[in-house]
Amino acid sequence: MALDREAAGILSRGWYKEHLEPAECEYLLSFRDRSSEANLAVSLADRLNRQACTDTGRICVRIAVATGPCPANCGFCRYAESVTRCRFFDIDDAQFGRLIQEIEAFGDVREICLVTTGDADLTNLCRYIGIVKDQAPKGTQISVDTRDMDDGEAQTLRKAGACGAYHARRLGEGTDTQFKPEKRLNTIDSLVRAGLAVTAGVEPIGPEHTAADICGAFYEILNRNCCHAAVVPRTPVVGTKFNSAGTVNPARLAQIKAVLTLASGWYIPRIREPTPGCFVNGTSLATVTCGDEGVAGAPKQNPVETARRRLFNAGYLHLMRADSSAVDLDLGYLKRTDSV
Ligand code: SF4
Repeated sequence: MALDREAAGILSRGWYKEHLEPAECEYLLSFRDRSSEANLAVSLADRLNRQACTDTGRICVRIAVATGPCPANCGFCRYAESVTRCRFFDIDDAQFGRLIQEIEAFGDVREICLVTTGDADLTNLCRYIGIVKDQAPKGTQISVDTRDMDDGEAQTLRKAGACGAYHARRLGEGTDTQFKPEKRLNTIDSLVRAGLAVTAGVEPIGPEHTAADICGAFYEILNRNCCHAAVVPRTPVVGTKFNSAGTVNPARLAQIKAVLTLASGWYIPRIREPTPGCFVNGTSLATVTCGDEGVAGAPKQNPVETARRRLFNAGYLHLMRADSSAVDLDLGYLKRTDSV
């Protein structure tokens, strides 16, 4: 079946890194996932991403360092104190140091992101940043995913050694959370002003969200001097009102990511990683999690092997090391790193 002419024109402009309007993105998202228009969007975005990262993947390990029942009670969150079954957890310093050494045993984890809940003690977080600085190879990018903050607090994290931060402008902010969208965006601006490489999240996307909801949130974080955007689906949590709503289907999520990738191809971040990929994180960034012993059933094994295999299976030819050099990502490398 022939491609819709208007969609083909918008996709072509995205491929050539022209500005796309929100209404144009919404038009592209009006096609069903797996339609010819959606498939072409996914293919073009993937090619843009592979060009931008020169077939080099990166690994980010997210470590929950301080978690527990969170009084912010966001309506979708597994830590919300009204629904959670997790207990308070602060990772032990010595155990944390050993975990960092284990994760960086082969020096090929580019980013370690320290995760807390919404009532985090930033002094505590700064101590954990110091442990990563001491234990990880030189060049490892240390980032944080923590609570809202002002300029001074963002600068404190920067001085402690953080070089990046994740912060989400959530869908349903102010309705499903007790935070105003402006507060979340102000925190992103504070993190940017402190000189941190910020990844802004568009999340948590559920099957009920419209193209207008998603594009509206994305265009609020675009051109805010962030380095990347992450487009993240909602995970059902028992006890929350969204548990029965299910999850956005993977093909639709791929279509959403692709359209937003094509919408922002023109954007050049203020802080540039070597081989960064596109503004919207694609498959070149393999993110894995560990360390969350406050949650029953959390993975205990080193997750980096999984990340290496994921990048290999997706066809990436190189892997960026902690020190920003690259290593060939071939079967021999997987064997040498105990990943197969
Ligand atoms: S602030 Fe963060 S950790 Fe706390 S309930 Fe909301 S999403 Fe969960």
